[in-house]
Amino acid sequence: MRAVLLVQVGKPLENAKVPTPEIGPSDVLVRVAAAGICHSDVHYRNGISKIDNLPVTLGHEVAGRVEEVGSKLTHISVRDRVCVHYLVHCRTCEFCVRGLEQFCRSGQMIGKHRDGGYAEFINVPGANVVLLPDEIPFEAGAIMMCSSATAFHSLNKARFKAGEVIAIFGFGGLGFSALQLARAYNCGDAYVVEINPAKLALAATMGAIAIDARAADPVEQIKDATAGRGVDVALELIGSAKTIRQAVLCLGPLGRTALVGLTAESMSIHPYPELINKEVAIIGVSDHLAAELPALIEFARSGKLRFPPETLRVIDLDAAQINAALDALQDSIDHVRTVIVPSSDK
Ligand SMILES: [Zn+2]
Ligand SMILES: [Zn+2]
Repeated sequence: MRAVLLVQVGKPLENAKVPTPEIGPSDVLVRVAAAGICHSDVHYRNGISKIDNLPVTLGHEVAGRVEEVGSKLTHISVRDRVCVHYLVHCRTCEFCVRGLEQFCRSGQMIGKHRDGGYAEFINVPGANVVLLPDEIPFEAGAIMMCSSATAFHSLNKARFKAGEVIAIFGFGGLGFSALQLARAYNCGDAYVVEINPAKLALAATMGAIAIDARAADPVEQIKDATAGRGVDVALELIGSAKTIRQAVLCLGPLGRTALVGLTAESMSIHPYPELINKEVAIIGVSDHLAAELPALIEFARSGKLRFPPETLRVIDLDAAQINAALDALQDSIDHVRTVIVPSSDK
């Protein structure tokens, strides 16, 4: 089968012909119909996130059709439409038994620790496939498995409730899902903080109040707009000390900020006025949980979470096209999600 491999860190991905995986009795072979290209893949290629077991097929946002089912599995059939939960976990360690598989002692990420979806086929444990309803296109199903799932997890970690006012810092793939999900939860006002005019305009068309961080301090703008009160929940999806601090400062009493964006920077907090006095919480968010996927899929099935065609770019399973998409993500010029749809004629 065709696959696109990371052979050497710091080098472009390479086209390869590799054996089609052989599945075990508890595994499923999925014919990849769509594989999302994620910012994490940029970090794998450039070595910011370390991968030891090279070469590896990248791609952790995967949807497709079941091609072959292991003999022990009964919950899934050939031809089923599925998407793939990217964390393969042991189900027996102290975290897995509590449904906290993102801390699994022996967890493996698909498309990093084991071969992923930049290929014609992928072999995954049967426990990692989730049925994808006919109403959801494969491209959306793939993207949902990472950016939407993480956005959903951040809302859950922030204990977001109907009617609450939210501020979303950063309107890339995560923010695009987070805003739709907050609205699906019947949020109060939703503020989107960005510096990119196109993203601000898009957020406004989706019902958000656009906060242009270039125009004035976004905290001041949010405080002004909320009569000094601030927001209930702030999601930080950018990963910079400056915006993390803004996400804390824009909270009102009992507010929660969920930190999703990654940064190596430090930031300072003045505990008494900024945290203690308001009883606000700063919450770290890592990955998402398999248990969250059914609710997420239902939001998409019912049309509350959508990825209109103009927000997606489709490319072939081809190293040159994938490398170009990763370059665009690296330079932060990509405003849409790029999805690999393998052509069937090669
Ligand atoms: Zn991802
Ligand atoms: Zn485990």
